[in-house]
Amino acid sequence: MPEIVGEYIDKIANVEMLDDTQTRRNRTHLLYEAARAKQGAPLTYLAAMGLAENVKKDDYVILLSGAGVSPWLEWGETDGPTGIASLARALSFGLGARPVYVGNEKELGPVIAAGVAAGITVLDKEAVEVYKRKNTALSIPFPLGDKGAKAKALEILDEFKPTAILGVEKHAPNPVGVWHSADGQAGDPEWQPHVHHIVEEGKKRGVFSVGIGDGGNEIGYGVIGEEANEIFKRAYGVTCQCGCGGGEATACATDVLVSASVSNWGAYGISAMLAYMLEDPSILQDADTERRMVEVMAQAGAVEAMSALSIPEVDGTSLPVQQAVITMMHGVVANALRRKPTKMHEAFSDYAASKKEA
Ligand SMILES: [Zn+2]
Repeated sequence: MPEIVGEYIDKIANVEMLDDTQTRRNRTHLLYEAARAKQGAPLTYLAAMGLAENVKKDDYVILLSGAGVSPWLEWGETDGPTGIASLARALSFGLGARPVYVGNEKELGPVIAAGVAAGITVLDKEAVEVYKRKNTALSIPFPLGDKGAKAKALEILDEFKPTAILGVEKHAPNPVGVWHSADGQAGDPEWQPHVHHIVEEGKKRGVFSVGIGDGGNEIGYGVIGEEANEIFKRAYGVTCQCGCGGGEATACATDVLVSASVSNWGAYGISAMLAYMLEDPSILQDADTERRMVEVMAQAGAVEAMSALSIPEVDGTSLPVQQAVITMMHGVVANALRRKPTKMHEAFSDYAASKKEA
């Protein structure tokens, strides 16, 4: 049954609405299909199963965010923070985990704001460990550039001993160390927090990892690096626009890749699957909570990437669309959890029984 639910949660997370000015248009479903073929089951189902198996009560879980680069997206973009906030809420409410946000300091602002709107406040380690304060997150700023990044990653792994690491819309470099935007242009590595080291070093320690993205350049797409570059080549004639030869897809692979049309929706899908598997719909934020999460994220400075405005929209899709995605996921979860016979079953059950007797 969870696989059937995951099938349709995946579909909701993969409805693409990009306009024809976007080079990425009509590509997200190809990335999804490649990820699905490689992993063999619904992606949100695989991620939620892995989290339920690996994350125990009071475990720390690292949530990596931040697709923005200075000076265009100084406070990050609107795809990412509400996905992180949804996962922080689901992992905290559902599994009793302790979320730790890690990212560029400025970009953590919208993440924290969205998290608070979802019910998760940020406190310090003492509040969590000494006073056993629940449903809170920690927030750890990560420096920009590669210098010292690996040491910082090891420090974080040593300190928190996380049992899962998740990235939402977090860019990472390709096999030759080049960072790419979603349209295949090269970006300056000094503008990025190199948090993928946490994933790579975590893998050496056996920490379960999930990458959630929508472009191919985000943490996780190393799972289908070759397939993604083939998709880009069919679209552009080249695997990236910068000529580095390494392709747009990142080399950073995770245990599970959740490919979606909007990264936040992939994250919501994982929360929805946890809500279903733990039989508690409140684990997934409701549509009104979603509205507040998206509004405060924009008020905290996150920029919608198509318009370059701090508005409550995500990847060119409106606030009502974000709420509709949540509403549809809730619809799938609620119906899947309804185990009692429906009125229709009751209405016909006597007749069906009498036919059987006859
Ligand atoms: Zn390139």
